[in-house]
Amino acid sequence: AMRRDFVANVSHEIRTPLTVLSGFVETLQSIPLPEAERQRYLDLMAVQASRMQSLVADLLTLSQLEGSLPPGMSEKVALQELMSQVASEAQALSAVLSGHEGDQKTCAHHLVLESVPAWVLLGVRSELYSAISNLVSNAVRYTPAGGTIRVAWSRDAEQVILSVRDTGPGIAPEHLPRLSERFYRVDRSRSRETGGTGLGLAITKHVAQRHGGELRIESQVGQGSNFMLVLPTSRLVLQAD
Ligand code: ADP
Repeated sequence: AMRRDFVANVSHEIRTPLTVLSGFVETLQSIPLPEAERQRYLDLMAVQASRMQSLVADLLTLSQLEGSLPPGMSEKVALQELMSQVASEAQALSAVLSGHEGDQKTCAHHLVLESVPAWVLLGVRSELYSAISNLVSNAVRYTPAGGTIRVAWSRDAEQVILSVRDTGPGIAPEHLPRLSERFYRVDRSRSRETGGTGLGLAITKHVAQRHGGELRIESQVGQGSNFMLVLPTSRLVLQAD
């Protein structure tokens, strides 16, 4: 039944942009339009095409996660380098979403990356990157401009924790247990407007579990959310060498 639902969901997610896209193609083929109008249609078509591209990219990521062996302990991932890539992409996304892309790259959020420790994680870099960047980009996408996003690493005896805290709308408790299901969305229109696929948290949870950890979510409506990627300290090397 899960497989059937998944196939139905994927088909639906692909059919929606495809329907819009082929509608525009038909219009362009049959009606001569003024240049400005034509350009507008092409722009809308590009949005739908990139929506399908993101969806296919996330589906491939999920299927790779399902089809590969659990991450070993031989690949070393330097946190500082990983986090600086995540942060610069989050800044760019914040600027694009607020319409300030181009020359003046204005970040519309207060993005606070607390000093990243010189730690090395033993795991798969590409997976950890997807997991973390999904959490940070969600915080940017769901937090209105002017809000604060605070990213911090910490650890105790058992766990290494990445916390991504935002001052966005927050999430009601009844949604929390379902949030990492594939295609489960609380705010459907916000997800669509900001290029969501509905698969980001499913990917993050999968990556966390494959590395022996978990995805933890705390949120309060009106207060914001805290998404935590929790990994076992067995995957931590304290000093970069
Ligand atoms: P999407 O591509 O729709 O963002 P995700 O799997 O990443 O899919 O997230 C699932 C849903 O969880 C989102 O549609 C959104 O409703 C909710 N969500 C995720 N992150 C946040 C956040 N930081 N603040 C509020 N809601 C969030």
